[in-house]
Amino acid sequence: DELISQIAAGEVVERPASVVRELVDNALDAGARQITVRLLAGGVRLISVEDDGGGIPPAELPIALRRHATSKVRDLQELEGVTTMGFRGEALAAIASVSQTSILSRPPEADSAWLLDARSGELRRAARAPGTTLEVKELFFSTPARRKFLKTDATELAHCIESVRRHALARPDVGFAIWHEGKLVEQWRAVPPETEHSQALARRLADVLGQEFVDNSLPVHRIFNNGAITISGRAGLPDAARNRADQQYCYVNGRFVRDKVIQHAAKAAYEDVLHGHKQPIYALYVRIDPLRVDVNVHPTKIEVRFRDSREVHQAIKHAIEDALAVPRA
Ligand code: ADP
Ligand code: MG
Repeated sequence: DELISQIAAGEVVERPASVVRELVDNALDAGARQITVRLLAGGVRLISVEDDGGGIPPAELPIALRRHATSKVRDLQELEGVTTMGFRGEALAAIASVSQTSILSRPPEADSAWLLDARSGELRRAARAPGTTLEVKELFFSTPARRKFLKTDATELAHCIESVRRHALARPDVGFAIWHEGKLVEQWRAVPPETEHSQALARRLADVLGQEFVDNSLPVHRIFNNGAITISGRAGLPDAARNRADQQYCYVNGRFVRDKVIQHAAKAAYEDVLHGHKQPIYALYVRIDPLRVDVNVHPTKIEVRFRDSREVHQAIKHAIEDALAVPRA
């Protein structure tokens, strides 16, 4: 089982940033309002993710590390309509198989926290406020061939930050902090929950990508097919286009994705207003009926498959064209 987990780890855990992605996913699934990520050596020596979510009861701590252990899907039918971040119960087992992992957790109703060391299996009482801390040390320590592929600490750190940034742009209501080598490197404060949605998004975008992103973009909001598809977010003005596609963020049902259909549709919307090889900036959020999209395509869940990609393509294109007031052919 250890070997199977290590093989699974190859698909899920490529570098420290993949661990960060999975741990922040879990923290969000647990209902966290504040997530703190602490890193040493770009995440290679230590990745610690602290949350103030629902916690894990001590009896369930060993189960959380087991393969295909998930508290999130009850049957296969449910797998079809998953809306949580995780759903396969693979991430923690995979991560624990290629690192020294520990879980410190306390559900709000428990009178103390418990610490589980994955390697020794030792479980003991510890102190902590309600919530969970996952610690992942010495990533790939037992697989030197994999460790060799890691880049410099600075590069790995940049990927870790990008990983948190992707989550942060989806959840303005959650606060995020990233520390590296004991120094605070990023902090994005939670936007108060009563804030209107597009306002909240604008604030978070300004915090994470800079006020220029907001000043140089327009709000997108359109509903298609009686609510089966909603496109929202912000689309950059043609003048704000860049030489690199480094400020193009796409989300499907709250999850960051890389999707050809969305990217192509966005490009098509800018076709008549952008010249040369300039790349538009945008943050687009697709809300779609879960039955119209398959999210189980890729182990890292970064790809999706739409049932009707033409429908989604047209929705995106029209939503951006409307935002930019581009006349439609
Ligand atoms: P998945 O997220 O697909 O369920 P994981 O391997 O990522 O699988 O996590 C296994 C289980 O551990 C989760 O289903 C959840 O019950 C528990 N868990 C992991 N991280 C947290 C956390 N930060 N807070 C509460 N529960 C957690
Ligand atoms: Mg998970």
